[in-house]
Amino acid sequence: MEIFDAVVVGSGPSGMQGAIYLARNNLKVLMFGKEENSALYNAKIDNLFGYNDVCLGKDLLENTKNKLINLGMKKIDKNIKNIKKENEIFSLIDEDENKYFSKSILISTGIKRKVLNIENEKKYLGKGVSYCATCDGFFFKNKTVCIYGDGIKAIESSIYLSNIAKEVFLVFNDEKVLKNFKKSENLYKIKNINIIFGEKIISILGDENILKEIIFSSKKSLKVDGLFIEMGTFSIKEVFSDLPLDITKDHIKVGFKQETNIKGIYAAGDITGEPYQISKALFDGMNAGINLPDYIKNKN
Ligand SMILES: Cc1cc2nc3c(=O)[nH]c(=O)nc-3n(C[C@H](O)[C@H](O)[C@H](O)COP(=O)(O)OP(=O)(O)OC[C@H]3O[C@@H](n4cnc5c(N)ncnc54)[C@H](O)[C@@H]3O)c2cc1C
Repeated sequence: MEIFDAVVVGSGPSGMQGAIYLARNNLKVLMFGKEENSALYNAKIDNLFGYNDVCLGKDLLENTKNKLINLGMKKIDKNIKNIKKENEIFSLIDEDENKYFSKSILISTGIKRKVLNIENEKKYLGKGVSYCATCDGFFFKNKTVCIYGDGIKAIESSIYLSNIAKEVFLVFNDEKVLKNFKKSENLYKIKNINIIFGEKIISILGDENILKEIIFSSKKSLKVDGLFIEMGTFSIKEVFSDLPLDITKDHIKVGFKQETNIKGIYAAGDITGEPYQISKALFDGMNAGINLPDYIKNKN
């Protein structure tokens, strides 16, 4: 039976950064995940150390994956569907029912953002449609943007974008949330924020290259340069249903060393909470990659 020192579940920036530290520490590492499912895959990055111009998330993932293969890490482009702890060893089952064994696990599966699921949403991703104001807000300097969502995140994003964009439209349907939110007083004072109630976005239009207009359920339309969809995230519990992991809402709880409540399982990146940013994912991955080997050493 082949037993890995560490299995990294997730091949985004947090998992890859963790794996760099693990592989360079001479550990036997196996990584699962599909790069095209990473939040970074379709992103144009403009807020990262080391790049003068915008860089493509796809390139960062591809380059780092090649580096890891060169370091001797094994990579399988599949999803893990179940993890169990059997005595002191973890067993993992992939989507084709193959079984793997490891002394430790780094969970870096990211989060699943809620999407509108309407025509053209995918077509205009990175061409006007965004799911992250902190990431893409700067691309809309002095432009007109719309934020769509009913949670606090949508309100916070509107406030953030009002500092960058010329005009901000917040399409919000839950007046109660707005009233209870302590920053909403500020929201009403900001001159370039317009709040639209009781509308649902049913369609987004544009030309070949760029989003131009939003159509609402009332058939009214709004000309915009950008649409920020802030509808929250899905819960991620199904892969971990056989593990008594401490999960609060949609995130895995970790300590200062990225350790979870289960000895030998570490977690990093978006799955451990906000901010959903590459720099935080890299920090988490590094932190797990530095601390996880101590667990293996003490175990042996
Ligand atoms: C459109 C967009 C633009 C962005 N722009 C920026 C930006 O400009 N700057 C910035 O700092 N951040 C940006 N972000 C956020 C950034 O991409 C994320 O914070 C970062 O990718 C999180 O890294 P992660 O490793 O935690 O998760 P992810 O990158 O999402 O990677 C998760 C990985 O886990 C794998 N996985 C999931 N489930 C399983 C499973 N069951 N088994 C095996 N593998 C699994 C996936 O295949 C994927 O490889 C952007 C996000 C989006 C969506």
